[in-house]
Amino acid sequence: MKNIGINGYGTIGKRVADAVSAQDDMKILGVTKRSPDFEAKNAVEKGYDLYISVPEREKDFEEAGIEVSGTADELFEKLDLVVDCTPGGVGAQNMNDIYKKIGLKAIFEGGEDHDAIGSSFNAESNYDANLGKDYVRVVSCNTTGLCRTLKPIRDISGIKKVRAVMVRRGADPNDAKRGPINGIVPSTTVPSHHGPDVQTIIEDMNVMTMALIVPTTLMHMHNIMVELEDDITTDNVIDAFENAYRVLPLDPSLKIGSTAEIMEYAKNLGRSRSDMYEIPVWKESINVTDGELFYMQAVHQESDVVPENVDAIRAMLELEEDGEKSILKTNKVMGIL
Ligand code: NAD
Repeated sequence: MKNIGINGYGTIGKRVADAVSAQDDMKILGVTKRSPDFEAKNAVEKGYDLYISVPEREKDFEEAGIEVSGTADELFEKLDLVVDCTPGGVGAQNMNDIYKKIGLKAIFEGGEDHDAIGSSFNAESNYDANLGKDYVRVVSCNTTGLCRTLKPIRDISGIKKVRAVMVRRGADPNDAKRGPINGIVPSTTVPSHHGPDVQTIIEDMNVMTMALIVPTTLMHMHNIMVELEDDITTDNVIDAFENAYRVLPLDPSLKIGSTAEIMEYAKNLGRSRSDMYEIPVWKESINVTDGELFYMQAVHQESDVVPENVDAIRAMLELEEDGEKSILKTNKVMGIL
């Protein structure tokens, strides 16, 4: 049983903590918090040992009646691996200032740059390349979504070129600081960072992305166009998505016509926090015409990367040599469809 810690118990950190706790080959030894808020209180109520990132604030936690087990540095000394879920840029700093100095393996999230960390991860695409690695970045929610569906397409047909329009949510649902939101904000840098980010996982993928941000908090959406090498059919693509491990083709009979309804569907599944770990693809949007494939998919930004973190831990600690076995194990424990 490997000892895992979470540094940064926010949107991603709290979900990774629960996913790790559910596995039988790893456990959460502690999570870190900077301030004594409701998230800190909930963490302790869930049974996580809480360590504070700012030691001077111990008194604030005491006054709030939140039990503290020590400082973040004390937690790091006890771990086999830390999952750093701090905001973008902080993780790379932590790698150099803390983890490397004490020889602690660490996973980082999509807010970090590939070059700063040195290796990027998506379970289905490059598990093997990350076996035994010390520092690995689980790519962002959007890049994870692109890799999840482009990999199975490439397995059945070569890909000449990918073009994708990324429609991004304006803020996470709990992010009151960014709201109220109105207007559509184009990312005028083309390509957006998503295309190059896919190439940190699938190096030779010819992929170009454009992005815009819209006033919604629920999910991102991708409109994807793929020039195919081989003569495949719409049904071949549907089969490939049905057989992929974390892709969920949505049948038209479900009458799910929006991201709002996808999230309602996730609520009905009764999952923790109503999460949607899979990448839902509207089946009726999948269409091969004149050697080009078109499809539309959605990404639950708060949760699709969570199972990837579990698999990254297994790869880095060499708990499982075979990526497929790790994916299946994680999927079973997390109830992934
Ligand atoms: P968040 O703001 O919800 O959580 C970050 C947590 O880290 C907060 O609890 C914050 O208090 C804490 N923190 C801040 N500075 C810290 C420090 N110096 N030391 C310790 N803790 C610190 O952020 P998030 O959305 O969970 O994002 C975390 C990472 O995951 C980022 O790299 C982000 O790009 C990536 N990511 C986010 C999403 C998303 O949609 N939210 C999706 C995929 C990946």
